[in-house]
Amino acid sequence: MTLEHYIDGARVPSISGATFTSVEPATNEAYLTVSAGRAEDVDAAVTAARKAFSDGPWPRLPGEERAVTLRRIADAIEARDERLAALECRDTGLPITQARGQARRAAQNFRFFADVVTTLSEDVYRVGSAQLNYVLRKPAGVAGLITPWNTPFMLETWKLAPALAAGCPVVLKPAEWSPLSAGLLPDIMEEAGLPPGVFNLVHGIGEEAGAALVAHPDVPVISFTGESATGQAIMRNAAGTLKTLSMELGGKSPLIVFDDADLERALDAAVFGVFSLNGERCTASSRVLVHASIYAEFTERLAARAAQVRVGAPSDPGTELGALIHPEHYARVTDYVRLGVEEGARLAAGGARPPHLPHGNFLAATVFADVTPDMRIFQEEIFGPVVCVTPFGSETEAIELANATRYGLAAYLWTNDLRRAHRMAQAIETGMLWVNSQNVRDLRTPFGGVKASGLGREGGRHSIDVYTVSPIVHLATEDLPVPRFGAG
Ligand code: NAD
Repeated sequence: MTLEHYIDGARVPSISGATFTSVEPATNEAYLTVSAGRAEDVDAAVTAARKAFSDGPWPRLPGEERAVTLRRIADAIEARDERLAALECRDTGLPITQARGQARRAAQNFRFFADVVTTLSEDVYRVGSAQLNYVLRKPAGVAGLITPWNTPFMLETWKLAPALAAGCPVVLKPAEWSPLSAGLLPDIMEEAGLPPGVFNLVHGIGEEAGAALVAHPDVPVISFTGESATGQAIMRNAAGTLKTLSMELGGKSPLIVFDDADLERALDAAVFGVFSLNGERCTASSRVLVHASIYAEFTERLAARAAQVRVGAPSDPGTELGALIHPEHYARVTDYVRLGVEEGARLAAGGARPPHLPHGNFLAATVFADVTPDMRIFQEEIFGPVVCVTPFGSETEAIELANATRYGLAAYLWTNDLRRAHRMAQAIETGMLWVNSQNVRDLRTPFGGVKASGLGREGGRHSIDVYTVSPIVHLATEDLPVPRFGAG
């Protein structure tokens, strides 16, 4: 069986007939053939979406009516949530218990944006007594959505739900390493009654299908989640057609532990923050900065906990850390482990394949201690179950270390000193800061990074802003003077 594109309401192969193969992370065996989209397939999808935008009902429906369909999409996802979790677990190597949470969140994304779109209001300004200015909110046009392989279905729906809520027809290009769960979307959209041409799906390699979508003149908006380097390539490629870009990029997020913190909870957060989702999480707490007075003890306990993280088959409900996505990515992560040792960091836990898992992309939970900011393992996103631990002597040094990379996505702070928490919230260069808590957030809040971690914000109304344009209407309510040029 070949996983095909979905264009204008039909499942179709690539025009060229090209395909690629997907491998299962736990075994590295090929198990799925997928149509490989190229520029001509992307063009067909954009043409269908553009027609749905110009002539179709979807962009013209009131928000409340679109919300009804979005809720039906959520129902259709929930009806498949066990299947979705099983597919995602097989396709990405995520532990099944964590894949289940992702499937639930996907349905929640649609329910959430159904609510958002029914509560949107348009601003009105009264100017003096004779003019009214009001702001229209209109769908921006065809939205190109390009998504990564970590938590693929959750992130696809995090973009699809607001784009559809805003009235935009879409072309989705899922990551080539995790195409399976997106293959359920055509059935889900049909079951929910979404008109043909509104949802289009083109599988393919980033540099071909993704790049063609970015360069397409009839796509005014690209929402992208992925690596910072890819974000840079997309920005260059988008320049020719001047479009709106929303970019959720990489991270190297610090978790900072002061000696006045609740250390047991800080330890739980540090372990969960970097080893959940296989460490393949944009907001992973991959740098742990610890006050010098508790550094030795905290590092030892962190290493001891890492050594007990259960690495195993993704389908086993007892597994905490599954298989990394792909042999290429596994090589990249294990190269960083070798590099860390070469750079002089102290390997305090893990660093190797667990002996009971001879095949597949398995790596024990890995802790590097005594990491210094000049090391590449401190600076670069590893995107796997590898954490770097670094001591600091003062609040000022903690801030300097926190800000010492090119990234600025998330930060986590553990202290019971309220004033310090406020000071650090001002000083840390980050899109999001969690104080004495782990990575949970209300979906209304703006999600995104600073520096190399992203451009723009998604979440709540911020997502709707990405997919809408806001022309203003100036309305004179009385006869106002108009300059009479050429009237003598
Ligand atoms: P990636 O950048 O390699 O690929 C992401 C998507 O972009 C894929 O669909 C890929 O096919 C496509 N792509 C690749 N080259 C392209 C090009 N030249 N033009 C257009 N599209 C192209 O990222 P990945 O390896 O799939 O995902 C991991 C990265 O994503 C990590 O850096 C992680 O931090 C980041 N991420 C960020 C967030 C966030 O919200 N900030 C969330 C999840 C993942």
